Amino acid sequence: MIFKQFFDQTSSTFTYLLATSRGAEALIIDPVLDRVHEYLQFLGENNLRLVVALDTHVHADHKTGLGKLRKLTRCMTCMSSNAAVSTISRRLRDGDIISVGEIEIKVLDTPGHTDDSLCFYIDDMVFTGDTLFIRGNGRSDFQNGNAGELFDSITQKLFTLPGETVVWPGHDYKGEHISTIKKEKKHNPRVSGKSRNEFIEIMDDLDLPNPQLMDVAVPYNQGFSDNLGALMGEAMVLNCEQVESLDDPLLIDLRDQDEADHSGVIKGSILIPLRDLDSALEDPKHIINQGRDVVFYCAHGERSALGLEFALENGLKNAKHMVGGIHAWIDEGRDVS
Ligand code: FE
Repeated sequence: MIFKQFFDQTSSTFTYLLATSRGAEALIIDPVLDRVHEYLQFLGENNLRLVVALDTHVHADHKTGLGKLRKLTRCMTCMSSNAAVSTISRRLRDGDIISVGEIEIKVLDTPGHTDDSLCFYIDDMVFTGDTLFIRGNGRSDFQNGNAGELFDSITQKLFTLPGETVVWPGHDYKGEHISTIKKEKKHNPRVSGKSRNEFIEIMDDLDLPNPQLMDVAVPYNQGFSDNLGALMGEAMVLNCEQVESLDDPLLIDLRDQDEADHSGVIKGSILIPLRDLDSALEDPKHIINQGRDVVFYCAHGERSALGLEFALENGLKNAKHMVGGIHAWIDEGRDVS
């Protein structure tokens, strides 16, 4: 297993990069925009291919590297389905499992620091974002935070994980780097031996100043993928009705298999997860390169817009994408299989 922890001194943010081995697919958690070059260097040195980038929540203290990484590596960007970010690639829910090579990431919905906070459980490790720090936890006084919910997330979700689970937090302000669930249960002064009401009182009394970058970081992080669509002509962007009226298009579903299993697919479509699109485009024998009208779709229309850009860059002429994704398709009453 390749495991690398990066630290951004400006915001005291930890970023984590994981892969099964050299030459494999990789994932990154909570990348910081200003440090993207470091991640790319590490990926290059280890011959890794970044396929998934996750943010634990909309950050208020630094700009996310998700948008830049997606642009440079074509990775799938993931956040909570509660995140007020209109254009993330995959919106995660409690219990979702994302595979990256042989690594399985289990999504834990842990609201409280913010209403879109997630933790990621991988093997014997949990990446806790700002939900749980070593001997501390994130604040709960902005971005729809809620101290009671935070207490529940920590005690009923995180503290039910095996005691030996290693805690990898999103920040550290005190020089701590590593802990376990068992140690936090015992020694975390905010929650150990505290009732829910006592915890709420502690959180209410913190009276912290807003993060310095909050007014810049939050709007940036909510709209980080505004650069999409530069190459796209209007005729390449279709609504569901227009897609339905096409004569025998090749429908390509860019979601992961588990999403397709969960919400169904448009009849006759073939599944090519976004991470595999490049190799399909590069294969002259692939059905995608046989001259048929290609229509990409995904969950909400973000990966399909990205896929269309990749396809155009690769010289595919007959490609289009469906806005709104399968969610719009289903919402408007159309069938899936
Ligand atoms: Fe935060």
